[in-house]
Amino acid sequence: DTIGANFDRTAAAFGDNDALVEVSTGRRWTYAQLREDVEKLAGGLLAAGVETGDRLGIWAPNMAEWTLVQYATAKIGVVLVNINPSYRTHELEFVLKQAGISTLVAASAFKTSDYEAMIGEVRGNCPDLQRVVIIGSAEWDALAAGGAETDRVAGIQASLTADDPINIQYTSGTTGFPKGATLSHHNILNNGYYVGRLCGYTADDRVCIPVPFYHCFGMVMGNLGCTTNGATMVIPAQGFDPKATLKAVEQERCTSLYGVPTMFIAELNDPEFESYDLSSLRTGIMAGSPCPVEVMKQVVERMGMAEVTICYGMTETSPVSTQTRVDDSLDLRVSTVGRVHPHLEIKVVDPETGRTVPRGEPGEFCTRGYSVMLGYWNQPDKTAEVIDRARWMHTGDLAVMDDEGYVNITGRIKDMVIRGGENVYPREIEEFLYTHPDVLDAQVIGVPDPRYGEELCAWVILREGAAELTAESLREFATGKLAHYKIPRYVLTVEEFPMTVTGKVRKIEMRERSLGLLG
Ligand code: ATP
Ligand code: MG
Repeated sequence: DTIGANFDRTAAAFGDNDALVEVSTGRRWTYAQLREDVEKLAGGLLAAGVETGDRLGIWAPNMAEWTLVQYATAKIGVVLVNINPSYRTHELEFVLKQAGISTLVAASAFKTSDYEAMIGEVRGNCPDLQRVVIIGSAEWDALAAGGAETDRVAGIQASLTADDPINIQYTSGTTGFPKGATLSHHNILNNGYYVGRLCGYTADDRVCIPVPFYHCFGMVMGNLGCTTNGATMVIPAQGFDPKATLKAVEQERCTSLYGVPTMFIAELNDPEFESYDLSSLRTGIMAGSPCPVEVMKQVVERMGMAEVTICYGMTETSPVSTQTRVDDSLDLRVSTVGRVHPHLEIKVVDPETGRTVPRGEPGEFCTRGYSVMLGYWNQPDKTAEVIDRARWMHTGDLAVMDDEGYVNITGRIKDMVIRGGENVYPREIEEFLYTHPDVLDAQVIGVPDPRYGEELCAWVILREGAAELTAESLREFATGKLAHYKIPRYVLTVEEFPMTVTGKVRKIEMRERSLGLLG
């Protein structure tokens, strides 16, 4: 099926149900209304000269128009290119050129970024870019109003096939420069559907989506997870804001809440946390990076998300490969990322030999099936590095699979620290640091060392009022609990970690900055 056809079927079945709510402005659409506006916008795009197969960039924070554009482009086979809201001119120009974007739909500004001005600066360097439409302008209004071409939308939609590319999503850029994963209807529609199924979504669910639409977490697990199951998409704010998120859950009686662990940490630590009524919450998804056990417990106990699930995946695989089930024991949900998703295959291999390792032993996580991207846009060499000839996607993530098929992600191959010949998984040390009463959040990286090759360096954010944590006091705390080579040699106390806009810690940047800080 294509995204457009699937959306129409949901809209026909649940026409009166809320489809989309933008809490910050109070705007809301039923499925019938959303379908009408999506069709008009698709017609407006055709009238403006946008054609099937063209790349259309969307550069905006989370707002209703993002979702309208997502479904309008899907209906007419225009390849949507998600552009990171925190990009600046250099990165914007890169993506406009790399993806050959001919139409750019953008917000006029976001936070301190003047998008219009930045577009003006780079436009002359991008020969493919034929039209720029600023959301809210007269031009946007004309697009959104549709026109005579709207009659052509259904015919074009019927001519599309599920394997056509429909979306280019850039990876988070956690480990380097983002890469553009080219995804088909089939890839992301199915993944959204199964993510929603495993959360138990029905048309009665209302899903709070504070994670960015530009990323698969927002647009696939969020929007497609809802529209394939008739549920309601709730947008709390343009960017992540813990208070706005908690307020949206309360006001819209959301049954599900999404976030990366750092977002849940910020919500749980909001000074007014106890004043919000979160009793409508049942489920939700935590994903994107490892979830500290303590955070998971608090999400279940203090937020009431008894059926919260953990997902693991990557942009290149649409994204989800494994997910916990709502009836998995809490213990499994804190200690694993669940089991393989329906209709997918997974295996854990020795990265050197490519052979499958025995259960219980660490190796590289690989997956195969409908979810594997078509390839990196215009980068066949990069694609060949990660997808092998048998179509297995090699994720670069380290995993252990147990006898029942539960997977534990133990880190990234690139983040593993080798200290004096011993492999150290930063994740294990981070989990340990969370047990320290003064530590609010912790990250561990390797820094070069002449004697051991690498030494461990912990970055910690302390709780308010806590005394300074030194390498010495940490050593005292850890001695007898951790093997000596796992105790960080250096401790840096910081206010915050360098983050991607998807809320992931950029260890690559931490490593660079540590060098300067440690002198
Ligand atoms: P880049 O590929 O540009 O360096 P990225 O890998 O962070 O960035 P994404 O595709 O957004 O880009 O993220 C996928 C990665 O996130 C996975 O490969 C994995 O390392 C990590 N990840 C996702 N979910 C989980 C999870 N539940 N637990 C641990 N790690 C996770
Ligand atoms: Mg990646």
